[in-house]
Amino acid sequence: MTVEWLLERREGLTEEEIRSAFVFPDEGAKYHGGVHTIDLSAIRPMVAHPGDPDAGIPSDPTNGAYIGDLGDVNIDIAYAGSCTAGKDDDFAYYAMVTRAALDAGLSVADGVDCYIQFGSKAVKDLSERNGWSELFERAGIKLIDPGCGACIGAGPGVSELEDQVTVSAINRNFQGRSGPGRLYLASPLTVMASAFTGKITAWHPELFAQS
Ligand code: SF4
Repeated sequence: MTVEWLLERREGLTEEEIRSAFVFPDEGAKYHGGVHTIDLSAIRPMVAHPGDPDAGIPSDPTNGAYIGDLGDVNIDIAYAGSCTAGKDDDFAYYAMVTRAALDAGLSVADGVDCYIQFGSKAVKDLSERNGWSELFERAGIKLIDPGCGACIGAGPGVSELEDQVTVSAINRNFQGRSGPGRLYLASPLTVMASAFTGKITAWHPELFAQS
């Protein structure tokens, strides 16, 4: 898949040239950190608490929480996309949640500003081609061109008051980085689901059908 992807995007390179640049581990290489098996079906949606992106359950139970254990956290801003969570598949998730919300007659919750930032020009083009951008706008989501935005405290989506709460799919939430408010880090699915419920909410397919 990697070879195919690169062949479509790197003019003038042959398959052989692409393969010759791949890096592989040495024969018999030892992995000192051990080999870890992760059961993806056992992963539960979680957030990182405001102020520190570095830790989370189970590495530090003081920073990070399973959403089911979080209680009601009302939000003022939902920020989707960015370089980190603005890829093709992330946008497919945002569109899936947005479509489900629209089908249930919902738009972005009252009192919430929801932004979505394309990770690249190619993602923006894909979103337009697939009709996702139109879907987002219909739901009341504001579109932002690719670049470093609220993640570095620039442009729309930055909090202005200490008591504002943001849920965001960016990858850093050091205190003050994106304004004076409190910023929770979460997955694309959580960010978009929360935009429609108005509080930090884990996505599941029946979410809006129940509301
Ligand atoms: S500042 Fe944020 S949006 Fe910009 S490259 Fe770094 S992580 Fe990505």
